[in-house]
Amino acid sequence: MINRMASIVYQPPREEIERAKSLVLEIYDAIPDFECVPGCADCCGTIKFTYIERQIILEYARKNNIKIEMVSATKNCPVLDENNRCKIYPARPLICRLFGVVDHELLRCPYRQPKTLIPIDLALECLRIVDEISDELKIYGRVLDQTERRVRNLVKRLKKYKRRCRVED
Ligand code: SF4
Ligand code: SF4
Repeated sequence: MINRMASIVYQPPREEIERAKSLVLEIYDAIPDFECVPGCADCCGTIKFTYIERQIILEYARKNNIKIEMVSATKNCPVLDENNRCKIYPARPLICRLFGVVDHELLRCPYRQPKTLIPIDLALECLRIVDEISDELKIYGRVLDQTERRVRNLVKRLKKYKRRCRVED
């Protein structure tokens, strides 16, 4: 019985993982673009990401034949290559996408800044929802409908900022 419950908790159905991934990718896509200084990786250190973000990263790495080692304690992010470039940039997790585009001192890039920053409450809602998507997948084996509705609402709000954001020269 315990083993059976463990498998329900840790192995969500494939189609539900895909649904969860597409919700997270919608959020990623709605976050304002931010162009880094070429070769800069000053904010790339130890990062936290959720279960569903891990799935997105591993799938990207598999498709692109990228070897990555998920280690728990390191000074630099383990997916930086020898030229300080992110090996999984198109699949990078939420926190990496928020850095530089949020109106909060801890998330501000020291070198570049879009004309419009997204408010911290919106950034926190992104982090909360992606966390909840991961938890629901692990606990219920699916993303709850109300969470999907919250994603739609969040994406609408983010897109307003995305339209207004342009990186200053
Ligand atoms: S967000 Fe800023 S500090 Fe971080 S890598 Fe990009 S340019 Fe460098
Ligand atoms: S995942 Fe990529 S963007 Fe994020 S910290 Fe690591 S190297 Fe930097």
